[in-house]
Amino acid sequence: MIAHIPTMFLMIIATSGTLALSVGWVTRAEDKDGLRLWTAALALQTLVFGLFFLRNQVPDFFSILLANTGLSVSYSLFLAAICQFQQRRLSRLLFWCPPLVLAVAFSFLMANIGARIIVGGLVFITQILLVFCSLLSRRYRVNGRGKYLLASGLGIMISVLAMRILSAIFVPDQLTSILRETPIQVLTFLAAFITLILTSNGFVLMIKERADERIRLMAMKDRLTGIWNRIRLEEAAQVEIARLDRYGHPVSLIMVDLDHFKEINDQFGHTTGDVVLKEFCAVVQGCIRTTDLLGRWGGEEFLILLPNSGFASAAPLAERIRVAVEQHEFAGRHRITASLGFAVCQSTDTWDSWLDRADKSLYRAKNAGRNRVENECLQQESGLTAESDKHLLQLMWRKAYESGNAQIDTQHRALFEHANTLLNVIVENRPKTEIARLIAALMAEIDQHFRDEEAIFQHAAYPDGEYHRGLHAHLLLRASQLAGRFEKDQVGTGELFHFLAYEVVAQHMLIEDRKFFPMLTDLVHS
Ligand code: GH3
Ligand code: MG
Ligand code: MG
Repeated sequence: MIAHIPTMFLMIIATSGTLALSVGWVTRAEDKDGLRLWTAALALQTLVFGLFFLRNQVPDFFSILLANTGLSVSYSLFLAAICQFQQRRLSRLLFWCPPLVLAVAFSFLMANIGARIIVGGLVFITQILLVFCSLLSRRYRVNGRGKYLLASGLGIMISVLAMRILSAIFVPDQLTSILRETPIQVLTFLAAFITLILTSNGFVLMIKERADERIRLMAMKDRLTGIWNRIRLEEAAQVEIARLDRYGHPVSLIMVDLDHFKEINDQFGHTTGDVVLKEFCAVVQGCIRTTDLLGRWGGEEFLILLPNSGFASAAPLAERIRVAVEQHEFAGRHRITASLGFAVCQSTDTWDSWLDRADKSLYRAKNAGRNRVENECLQQESGLTAESDKHLLQLMWRKAYESGNAQIDTQHRALFEHANTLLNVIVENRPKTEIARLIAALMAEIDQHFRDEEAIFQHAAYPDGEYHRGLHAHLLLRASQLAGRFEKDQVGTGELFHFLAYEVVAQHMLIEDRKFFPMLTDLVHS
């Protein structure tokens, strides 16, 4: 079976004409994405295939020279459309050079179909390759899946044009006329048909995907200040919580509230208040890293998410922000201050519990007189120093940590000591086998300690015993996961350190354990 070439032409004319009309109609209002250029290219292709269709009925000047030059201009228009989509200009030389070369060459080759196929094929392949390269260029990145549809359409056309060139060289009798129904001709027009549909669908999809992305971003931004809103903050925080869980990467959250902001509104008006809010955001942006995320939680309350930051990074940053706001002279010579509270995420945290701890810290900062930074008191209690993120830390035992129960205190002390030994070995960069051995020993010790502690608070009828047992199980599971990944080089010493220092010692032993200490004291006294 062989297809009827004039019918194929009609199909291509009908399809490109319909696409041009429909895309053109949709884009008539405004065009920043290149759709209008794309429409022009489609309309031109409709004309070109109309001229091909009229081969032998109109002079060759129209159906060969003009038609092929038109086809080349349509490829330049496709390229221009992609460039406009990528918000860059296409040079005139690149636009006009291929059609001109083709027109000049064809005017000499009117009688030689083989030479025309080779020259025309090479020019078209070059033009399509240019579209291909712009589409996949790293510099002008195009996101989404539409580009793959477009690229596959272009790929099909390039392959068929290459086949035409080869057959013009090796089996020239296959290509004696454009209207002859040889397999290569049928393949060519079938490819032209498929390419038309794939590329146009791909391009429209690219535009839709970008519009969707813009809407998605707009939905995640705060309208007044242009910074992220709650939706984005929550989304990013969930990702960071998962990263902490999977890789042990520390992450912190700072909550900021402007002090007596209502007075600014009351005295100078809401518009001034708005300006101050925007300026405040700029001041904070100037203090944080590009990877940190500033968002508006509501009103004059802001959150800053600090990926890869433990206590030692978050504390000085919060203080820097406080000072920067205090020292900044806002428009209209206004001065304001801010209160900040921060919390380092623990592996047992949900977004709500983490936020709640940051909120409580902020509340403490407000209560303590405003214009200050507060945290969960981990620093004072655990003796973690500002150098802790650099792993130069020693956990220091303090009298205040004592529970009143001799067994628990002895074990807590021993755990401190052994964690310190491990930290030393890590700092000294000793062989991995030695580190792994110490980790295993420490884990066994923690396991034993948890069991003894559980027996003690069971005996004391500690009402939150079940919850606490759950925390133990969670910590043990995480410890064994981290140790396994450490052995496989999937996590580094920094993550191990964070887990030991913050999750086991600072959070669990110094916050959770202390909740049942009063019961132990009662036992001693009773
Ligand atoms: P505190 O130190 O206790 O935080 O006092 P405050 O006055 O800052 O806190 P309060 O919660 O009493 O008032 C917050 C004010 O923030 C009231 C509200 O009008 C103002 N505010 C909230 N959102 C906006 C906004 O988008 N623009 C302006 N201009 N003001 C806002
Ligand atoms: Mg407030
Ligand atoms: Mg306030």
